[in-house]
Amino acid sequence: MYFIQSAKLSVIEGIVHGFADRSVCADPIEVARHFKLSKIAQLKQVHSGDVIIVENVENMENHYALSEGDALVTELRGVGIGIRTADCVPILLVDDRQSVIAAIHGGWRGTLSEIAMNTVSLIESKYGISPSKLTAVIGPSIEKCCYEIGEDVASLFEEKFQNFDQYLFKSNESKYFLDLSLANKLGLQKAGVPDIEVIDICTKCNDSFYSYRREGKGVNTQLSFIALKQ
Ligand SMILES: [Zn+2]
Repeated sequence: MYFIQSAKLSVIEGIVHGFADRSVCADPIEVARHFKLSKIAQLKQVHSGDVIIVENVENMENHYALSEGDALVTELRGVGIGIRTADCVPILLVDDRQSVIAAIHGGWRGTLSEIAMNTVSLIESKYGISPSKLTAVIGPSIEKCCYEIGEDVASLFEEKFQNFDQYLFKSNESKYFLDLSLANKLGLQKAGVPDIEVIDICTKCNDSFYSYRREGKGVNTQLSFIALKQ
């Protein structure tokens, strides 16, 4: 079962993680079994800025939590947390003592809602872990080569963020392109996370990934997950 590995996360002994491409089956039960996890908790993803704490998976059926939201945080061991994407940005987080992990789904709406910062803030307020102790990895997503957005979306970023010109570009033909992984990286840095890896693969350019922009509505999604070992 092939998962893309982060250089930073793969040397941390207390965790398992992976970013799937389309070669990995979509069945979280098989993925959980393969990595000796009791479950892989996922959410009903709704492009929000909402972060869900996973405290109990006993009543969770079919590896899906009932909650809606777009980021998961847990300190449970032997339980995976996963998010699914097809162009959106997957982000995995762990602290330096491997006591808490997070998985984040950042599309443009979630990025606009600062979901990565919300997750880091929650980890600090709930578990007392400083953002300076976190490592973050931004997985394969649609990159600025391919992520054209409308003027309506561009103006939302221009209105909300002072530094939008670092990741929002206008081409000679007046088309807007958004560097979503960089926007999330800058958000994580602003939240105080010092250690950030970006896996530089564009899901639209590279057809070993599911891509909403390439394949359209009804496209499948790839799983990104992280777990604290038992
Ligand atoms: Zn591309």
